[in-house]
Amino acid sequence: MNIKLAIEDGINILKDKKINTAKLDAEILMAKALKKDRKYIILNDNNDLNGKILNYFYKLINERASYKPIAYLINKKFFWKNEFFVNKHTLIPRPDTEILVEQVLKLTKQKNKMNILDIGVGSGCIILSVLKERKNFLGTGIDISKNALEICKINAKRLKVDQRIKLYKTNIDKFEEGNYDLIISNPPYIKKFVLKYLESDVIKFEPKLALDGGIDGLSEIRKVIIKSSELIKKNGKFVLEIGFNQKNKVVKLLKEKGFYINCTLKDLALNDRCIVSTKI
Ligand code: GLN
Repeated sequence: MNIKLAIEDGINILKDKKINTAKLDAEILMAKALKKDRKYIILNDNNDLNGKILNYFYKLINERASYKPIAYLINKKFFWKNEFFVNKHTLIPRPDTEILVEQVLKLTKQKNKMNILDIGVGSGCIILSVLKERKNFLGTGIDISKNALEICKINAKRLKVDQRIKLYKTNIDKFEEGNYDLIISNPPYIKKFVLKYLESDVIKFEPKLALDGGIDGLSEIRKVIIKSSELIKKNGKFVLEIGFNQKNKVVKLLKEKGFYINCTLKDLALNDRCIVSTKI
């Protein structure tokens, strides 16, 4: 069978499962099976495939047909300006989360040195993107998942910022180190009972630990705010990702802990997604 026919077959299998990115996904998976890029696939679609590669392609297609996200199948996701290694142990970086990076860079344009903390660092996409752009900044990342920290370490090395980041496996309640100019966090904030209604791609494959925000969706956000109020310097900035319906409640929590609200920002779908505040 040639590349073109195999891809068409793959597209049909994915379409049957109502995957609306079927064509793109099938091409990406063919590229993965052949260890080539998508351009090669498109330019050489008459080439015949050997049995081994064809089997591997169908294996990938079938995994995708069970809704495994493309990012986990190819172990990478582009975020901000870099490619990140990902696997099932970390949330897949979301385009919406790039707002946090954008805000941090805006807030730190004139700063030379800063100590920054990322609570629930995961793949490292937020803090590593910032460290890559701000060459004199020092970072600390904490996470409860040892596996996630391993991924973050791999990404820090790839981005050549591993000399400027310290990583700790810890429960947020137990972390007491440091005094930070800036804190960032994208904590789990989905209500427990809503989890099962998330898309199959998300709920069947992404780590619940990174999504589950407890009964009211705010249990981790609450801890992150309390801990940040203790570890942040006076006048330090706090950039937090929130759920689409959490703005008012989170603003209240922040004010109670001595934060001044600078602004709230919407994501690409125009949902409230990020709050920037200052410790006063
Ligand atoms: N934005 C993610 C989602 O909707 C949730 C991320 C989180 O809980 N921090 O899948």
